[in-house]
Amino acid sequence: MGKHVVIVGGGFAGLNAAKGLVNAPEIDVTLLDARNHHLFQPLLYQVATAGLSPAEIAAPIRAILTYARNIRVLQEQVVDVDLSRRMVVSDSGEHSYDYVLLACGSKHAYFGHDAWEMHAPGLKTLEQATAIRRRVLTAFEEAEKEASPERKRVADLCDRGWGGDGGRTRRGHRRDESFHAGERFSPHRSHLGPRHPR
Ligand SMILES: Cc1cc2nc3c(=O)[nH]c(=O)nc-3n(C[C@H](O)[C@H](O)[C@H](O)COP(=O)(O)OP(=O)(O)OC[C@H]3O[C@@H](n4cnc5c(N)ncnc54)[C@H](O)[C@@H]3O)c2cc1C
Repeated sequence: MGKHVVIVGGGFAGLNAAKGLVNAPEIDVTLLDARNHHLFQPLLYQVATAGLSPAEIAAPIRAILTYARNIRVLQEQVVDVDLSRRMVVSDSGEHSYDYVLLACGSKHAYFGHDAWEMHAPGLKTLEQATAIRRRVLTAFEEAEKEASPERKRVADLCDRGWGGDGGRTRRGHRRDESFHAGERFSPHRSHLGPRHPR
C-alpha cells in the first residue's frame, strides 16, 4: 500500500522536497500552494526596482514538476491540519495524509511597530514587489517635477526605513537599482550618485 505525502507550499523548501520524491515508488504526493507559481524571492528586489518583470522570477509549480508522474499540484490555501484525523484542511477541501510537510515560508514583521508598514512595506510576494515598483517610479516622476535639490535625492528617499541585515542588503540593491531605474526613466539627471557607492 503506497503512502500519501502532502506538501504545503511550493517555495524553495516544498519544491525541493517534492523533487526529492519525484517518481518514488509507492509514494503519491499532493503539493498544495495558495499560489500557482513558484517564486524566486531573491530577485524580488529587481522587480521592485523595474529591472525585471514578474514573469521572469516566477514559474508555474505544475510546469516545474510536469515530469513527475506521482505528484499532483493543486492551488489551495491551507487553513488547518487536523492531526487526529491526519487531514490537511484547505479552503476547498480536505486531503488525508500519511506524512505532511509544512513548508509555508515566513512573514515579515515590524517588532510591534505595525505602523511602519505603510512606509516600509514587505517584500515577499510579486504583489508587494509591484506595489513598491509603483511607488519608486512614482517617486521618480514626482522628483522630475520637484524644484528643491534636497528633495531631488530620490534614491535616498527610496532607501528610508530599511533596517537590519535584510535592510542593508535591500539598501544596497535598491541604491544600485534605483540608479538604473532613475537613469532609464530620467536619463538627463546626474544627482543619483555613482553606480556602485561604497
Ligand atoms: C527579497 C528577498 C531576498 C532574498 N534573498 C536571498 C538570497 O540572496 N539568498 C538566500 O539564500 N535567500 C534569500 N532570501 C530568502 C529565501 O528566498 C527564503 O529563505 C526562501 O524563499 C524560503 O523558502 P521557503 O520554501 O521556506 O518559503 P517560501 O519560498 O516563502 O515558500 C512558501 C510557499 O508556501 C506557500 N504558502 C504559504 N502559506 C500557505 C498556505 N496557508 N496554504 C498554501 N500555501 C501556502 C506560499 O504561497 C509559498 O509559495 C530572500 C528572501 C526575500 C524575501
